[in-house]
Amino acid sequence: MAKCPKCGAEVEKPIKTWVLAPKGRKGVTIGLFKCPNGHYFRAKVE
Ligand SMILES: [Zn+2]
Repeated sequence: MAKCPKCGAEVEKPIKTWVLAPKGRKGVTIGLFKCPNGHYFRAKVE
């Protein structure tokens, strides 16, 4: 679940996800979300 930074709508599932892993660190999963109002945003996926 992620919140759109532009309109505050909550989006349940990302369109796509990928792992962001800097060298020597544990990676985090980032998701690309599209809110019901047509905004795209990226957020960390828990
Ligand atoms: Zn939005």
